[in-house]
Amino acid sequence: MDATTEAGAAPDSTTVAISGGGPAGVMLGLLLARAGVEVVVLEKHADFLRDFRGDTVHPSTQVVLQQLGLLDEFDALVRGRMSAIDFGTSEGPLVHQELAEVNRRHPFHTVALAPQWDLLDLLVRHARQYPAFTLLMEAETTRVVRDRGGVRGLRYRKDGAEHELRAVLTVDAEGRHSVLRSELPGGIVELGSPIDVLWFRIARHEGDPSDLRGVLGRGGAVVAINRRDYWQVALIVAKGSDAAIRAAGLPAFRERVGGIAPWMRDRLDAIGDWDEVKLLSVTIERLREWSAPGILAIGDAAHTMSPMGGIGINLAVGDAVATANLLGLPLLEAQADPDRFARTLNPALLDRVQRRREWATVLTQRIQAFGQDRVLALTLKPSARPLSPPAPVRALLRSPITRLLPTVFVYGLRPERIAA
Ligand SMILES: Cc1cc2nc3c(=O)[nH]c(=O)nc-3n(C[C@H](O)[C@H](O)[C@H](O)COP(=O)(O)OP(=O)(O)OC[C@H]3O[C@@H](n4cnc5c(N)ncnc54)[C@H](O)[C@@H]3O)c2cc1C
Repeated sequence: MDATTEAGAAPDSTTVAISGGGPAGVMLGLLLARAGVEVVVLEKHADFLRDFRGDTVHPSTQVVLQQLGLLDEFDALVRGRMSAIDFGTSEGPLVHQELAEVNRRHPFHTVALAPQWDLLDLLVRHARQYPAFTLLMEAETTRVVRDRGGVRGLRYRKDGAEHELRAVLTVDAEGRHSVLRSELPGGIVELGSPIDVLWFRIARHEGDPSDLRGVLGRGGAVVAINRRDYWQVALIVAKGSDAAIRAAGLPAFRERVGGIAPWMRDRLDAIGDWDEVKLLSVTIERLREWSAPGILAIGDAAHTMSPMGGIGINLAVGDAVATANLLGLPLLEAQADPDRFARTLNPALLDRVQRRREWATVLTQRIQAFGQDRVLALTLKPSARPLSPPAPVRALLRSPITRLLPTVFVYGLRPERIAA
């Protein structure tokens, strides 16, 4: 059976209903099912094959895959590895930091580049060995079920019919466009963003490096991610400028990208249509409250990150691991209670997930916002002069302070391990 198909009738009750089959939802489903907690994961799409998703699997996530015994299978999916942080301007290199020098005691020293759909397929294949795991594809959550002041499950649409799924705990893992977010009190904290990202592909040539390649130049920044057969390229542009860039035409677009990253010039002619260039509207935001009686938000639904540092998958996985560690046992106990649908889990237990994960998330978001506002936004200011930071900034970038970058963005401020 393909990883994304599910046999059998739709269940009408479970212990944990997870809305969203991204890294947060699938990892949480796997970990809970592995611990014997019944879970149903609902994913509205028919497969995981969405092109413009994160690819970067950081050391913290590699540790979790190792704990799950999935490292060998994961290695077969890897299309490249980044062993250093490298970025420069079109005038020359600025920062080079070997990852291994930052955290010598860590077992992993590379960021692995693996398509997110392959990673999700791997996790689902593994999760299916646990009878407590169910994944329903093409099942779209429409709303929660409320009863006696708490969330008691959700309603979803599948095969043209409406279904109800009762649950002790409902998890919102719907990502950045979550509809279930509105069930959580306190509203959203927005940090704003001066940038958007345009994504497209260019050819990879024999002899190209396998690392991620980033460069800042006048007119934006360009980051190229190795996907073995091609480069997935991100062009950072000013927020809201997509329509004007398209109106100026493809030749001007190619000129802009080639001006920032000249090594791409001979490959840009292959972009023949604007359909091949996709917009990602960048936001940095988070929920004030991640939980309410009967419901918990994790991953992008709780905190949408900037793509800076490629940290989103890894925080989502960290949330899932922390949730399984903190709630696995109480959920098993609740599962054994014949009256389980009449109660919700103690709200203080759900709150512990936010308490554990929030400070690292908030700090990372603030650093991302600083980088976007103070560095990336500079590249977007019109100027005829080449982009070259002043000497004191260059000196700072050559000092050990650059070790902070991998500490925050690669190793993570609060990496999680699966508890015994
Ligand atoms: C263009 C782009 C590039 C990125 N690059 C990187 C990167 O290089 N590295 C990195 O670490 N992160 C990157 N990210 C961020 C990363 O993809 C996310 O942070 C990560 O996927 C979050 O995981 P999640 O499970 O919380 O949410 P998501 O991955 O968004 O998963 C949510 C899932 O819920 C499903 N869903 C939504 N609503 C419903 C519903 N009502 N019913 C059922 N299912 C529903 C969606 O279809 C989706 O599959 C990028 C994001 C984007 C958009």
